[in-house]
Amino acid sequence: MCSSNVPGTRSAVTATAAMCAVLAGLAMAALPQAARGWDGAGRAGSRAALANTPLPSPADTTLAITFLDVGQGDAVLIRAPEGQTALVDAGRGDIVPLLREMGVDGIDLLVATHPHADHIGGMADVIGSMPVRFYMDNGQPHTTATYRRLLAALEARPEITYLEAVPRTISLGSAEIEVLPLLPQATTDTNNRSVTLVVRFGSFTALLSGDSEVRQLTHLVGQGVVPALTLLKAPHHGSDNGFTWPFLKAARPEVVVISVGRNGYGHPRPAALRAYAEVGATVLRTDVAGHVAILGFAGGDFGVVRGEQVALVMRAGGERSGIESAVVAEGDAVVGARGAAGAGVAAAAAAGGAGAAGGGADLRLSVYADAPGNDNRNPNGEYVVIQNLGAAAQAIGGWRLCDLANHCFSFPAGAVLAPGATITLYSGPGRSDGSRYHMGYRRAVWNNNGDTATLYDARGAVVVAYRY
Ligand SMILES: [Zn+2]
Repeated sequence: MCSSNVPGTRSAVTATAAMCAVLAGLAMAALPQAARGWDGAGRAGSRAALANTPLPSPADTTLAITFLDVGQGDAVLIRAPEGQTALVDAGRGDIVPLLREMGVDGIDLLVATHPHADHIGGMADVIGSMPVRFYMDNGQPHTTATYRRLLAALEARPEITYLEAVPRTISLGSAEIEVLPLLPQATTDTNNRSVTLVVRFGSFTALLSGDSEVRQLTHLVGQGVVPALTLLKAPHHGSDNGFTWPFLKAARPEVVVISVGRNGYGHPRPAALRAYAEVGATVLRTDVAGHVAILGFAGGDFGVVRGEQVALVMRAGGERSGIESAVVAEGDAVVGARGAAGAGVAAAAAAGGAGAAGGGADLRLSVYADAPGNDNRNPNGEYVVIQNLGAAAQAIGGWRLCDLANHCFSFPAGAVLAPGATITLYSGPGRSDGSRYHMGYRRAVWNNNGDTATLYDARGAVVVAYRY
């Protein structure tokens, strides 16, 4: 019954939704990569090549959620750590060339959040061009030519398994996709029945909800199903009806991505942008940044890749060196540490560091952002402390420490951090002596309301980042 594939036969699928969810989960979790003709050999090969390296490959350790720059519309590509893919919406036009550029040649789960052209316009081309295993929508037929084209494409591919968006959890490799409850049919408009998904990979959590407006967001909060988020796709392209305060207070996103292009609706609206800023989220827009990929780590940290580099990273097959060099080339990386975010300056000053392996260094980074008095008159009242927790001395000559706005300091040649030692980097001017360094700014560098300190080695790879 789960294999019902024509949307006209939905009632049978609904009745067996729980069983379908189990089967879908098993199928996605258990199917060996090699059994899937369209992605087996290449990726297995790249893993084998990395087997002897000490660093894990992000293809195995990160979930990538990529917001494709499709103009005004949504097309969100999810790649599980093991390589399985889900595509949530497909923009207005043909996105197949874009998917191929991203190294995608098959979709495990295709989701239409709701049947508006800026979300399903490109779906028939995807279905007609590459293998799709599961297709999910909200079960509500539509009358437009775009929808009929999608239906015809599905009917021509009887091997695609139809899933209705009822509450269920689907495994996508080691990531999980939870489908949240929808408002009943005929009680609301199309936007407010957008299929809403929570994507989880370890502590990393994302929520995608199409063009949900106030009514649906209120319903979700009322159902108690909105978790604390690492990543929020701005509902309804950053419209001012795409957020509510109770929703944002429940979600507390660390990063918000707005999928938006030229439009006559005023998206994104200033009220939404202000609200996202007010909850302390980093906001990224596809109309400004181009493609935006959020790399989720199981510990809850995340990385950001933007623009042209996204295809580079996606096509790199997840090799760590590929990702690091691609990210760092434009100084465009943000590595977030969950737990530090939203905790404010006090937590940052409490020496809570966020460690990340880089060349074997074991360093702790802490930012003391709030100088006594007026920060801009007392730049040496704010500083960064770097501690070497390792047993070996660490040469840091040529390394750079930067804030989010790209104020950077380069450590001089020969600078060394002895085992157990700390160095302090002050924002203001002064003389450096090997344990104290000065960035030389006449005003504050570190934003008291949140910032990211990133330490890069001499090759430009991220050694450690601290976000607060
Ligand atoms: Zn839309």
